[in-house]
Amino acid sequence: SKQAYVRTKPHLNIGTMGHVDHGKTTLTAAITKVLSARGTGAFVPFDRIDRAPEEAARGITINIAHVEYETDTRHYAHVDMPGHADFVKNMITGAAQLDGAILVVSALDGVMPQTAEHVLLARRVGVRHIVVALNKADVGEDDLIDLVELETRELLTAHGYDGDHVPVVRVSGLRALEGDPRWTGAIEALLDAVDTYVPTPMRYTDAPFLLSVENALTITGRGTVATGAVERGRVRVGDRVELLGSAGGARSTYVTGVETFGKPMESAEAGDSVALLLRGVQRADVRRGDVIAAPGSIAPLRHFTARVYLTTAAEGGRRTPVATGYRPQFHLRTADIAGEVDLGLRGVARPGETVTMTVSLGRDVPLEIGLGFAIREGGRTVGAGTVTAVAP
Ligand code: GDP
Ligand code: MG
Repeated sequence: SKQAYVRTKPHLNIGTMGHVDHGKTTLTAAITKVLSARGTGAFVPFDRIDRAPEEAARGITINIAHVEYETDTRHYAHVDMPGHADFVKNMITGAAQLDGAILVVSALDGVMPQTAEHVLLARRVGVRHIVVALNKADVGEDDLIDLVELETRELLTAHGYDGDHVPVVRVSGLRALEGDPRWTGAIEALLDAVDTYVPTPMRYTDAPFLLSVENALTITGRGTVATGAVERGRVRVGDRVELLGSAGGARSTYVTGVETFGKPMESAEAGDSVALLLRGVQRADVRRGDVIAAPGSIAPLRHFTARVYLTTAAEGGRRTPVATGYRPQFHLRTADIAGEVDLGLRGVARPGETVTMTVSLGRDVPLEIGLGFAIREGGRTVGAGTVTAVAP
């Protein structure tokens, strides 16, 4: 049968971010190639990463591509978002829960609008550590690459990162994929930078279990599986859990199987990307956005107050102010729910401002103080906020 997942090293979640075509997917494939040569992972070719999610045949199927690998000191789950919209949706809403990110900047093109937008949003959702891959260094000229490095460091500093000290590694994903030793060496250097610069995070393993569902599928002969990243706590085979769904209320069920990257595991903990097999639950009963949690640990609610930053047009946000009565989409964990904004006495808020608002959601969803969320409208991220109070 399948080989079990054995936890021997700290597990971290990282991801590639950066402007379209700067080489995120190529770099992701190159990393797996270099590590497979070391014997600590399987090579995942470009076209296995960059594909429609429905085609994914692994245990964990979500709308962001996950690859798994190990360095000498760590086990990583690496997400490579296929497009800008996926990036905003999955990472910014906290679904990807990145402990660190590799910012890919093409040495030929330099900082582009999505580069800046990703850095801004990463900062807003609390991605604390960024390592820079100056990609396409095989075709860039040194003087030009120096300028791109400078510009990237300035961008990071402008958004509150330690731009002067962030590791910047010149790489060529393409040449490394071809096996050129100079460039496979550069990938090694990049991985060393990630290993040393991104600290092992503290995990909330002692808190009550919570997982926000990214996808649900049926595995023939076994039942319904919900996938997602464990936000906090632990879950093991046999645990009773509650499914808090879009249909409302809480439904009790048991976890009858736990897997990560197709490998069975006895117990999953905060930070792990898992597939949970749920007893007696039909495929139609569980959906993206539902929460699976320790019984009684969190309540679905409809109203909240939040501090919200409204992004500027340059950051991908609105050009015009919003007013009380505004009804955008709220991305809370993996859920995407319409909600109506009340700005109280101020009545109006402009892009670039940080304001307090109360929100009435279209349906109940598990809410708690401190929860981060994104506000989206017509494909744009118009704001990002943190819940400060909740009410039924
Ligand atoms: P993504 O949109 O950021 O995922 O970018 P891709 O990985 O799909 O790469 C975009 C294009 O850049 C493709 O044509 C790649 O072959 C090319 N590319 C990626 N990395 C490199 C590199 O290191 N050097 C060169 N010369 N081209 C690259
Ligand atoms: Mg890509």
